[in-house]
Amino acid sequence: MSAVGTVLVVEDDRDIRDVVRRYLERAGHAVLSTGSGIEALRLLDDAAVDLVVLDLGLPDLDGFEVLREARRGGGRLPVVVLTARAEVDDRIRGLSSGADDYVTKPFSPTELVLRVGAVLARTVGPVAGDGALLFGEGRLRIDEARHEATLDGRTLDLTATEWGILATLASVPGRPFSRYELVNRVRGYEFAGYERSIDSHVKNLRHKLGPDPTSVVDTVVGVGYRLALRRDVTTGSPR
Ligand code: CA
Repeated sequence: MSAVGTVLVVEDDRDIRDVVRRYLERAGHAVLSTGSGIEALRLLDDAAVDLVVLDLGLPDLDGFEVLREARRGGGRLPVVVLTARAEVDDRIRGLSSGADDYVTKPFSPTELVLRVGAVLARTVGPVAGDGALLFGEGRLRIDEARHEATLDGRTLDLTATEWGILATLASVPGRPFSRYELVNRVRGYEFAGYERSIDSHVKNLRHKLGPDPTSVVDTVVGVGYRLALRRDVTTGSPR
């Protein structure tokens, strides 16, 4: 059993972080990533995260601090811990601090992705049918695994960035996402200077949405953007 969701990757080794991001995205997850524990705490506060992949050895903050934050207020945000092989004590501490699983470095990205999917299936439930989600009483259909969006029966021809924006907004319908969050999801945190150009990508996305685009992607003044459609109760089935 496997499931998809929004995964926050906290890992200061850029190569590992990029590989993990790529594999998770290929498996259909939306991915946020950072190399900083402090940044991770900010993202946990601001963003709708379903699971954290957490390296315990971070330069600015003890990974256990991040783990505690994920557990704050009785929350059950799943955490998969990454540990170096030598750090057996960390592994034991990690599991006793409530990590859902751990992966020892060096690790196979495929195995990590399988474990992430398995933990998500236990916590958010498996994806039904073809895995597509429906919004606005079937108006919008989002297929995360295939990177496909359909509006009013019409397949949208989106760039990778436009798709990323739409999929991110759809991850929590109705909740406003800041430009900063959108950039982080779509491009990775390294692109901090990219925030302003989100507006032009949203403009292009809206152009493709047809005659009444703000009924789908709404502007929240002073914050950012949100999906204006509600998520339908049932998941999509193949047509
Ligand atoms: Ca590290």
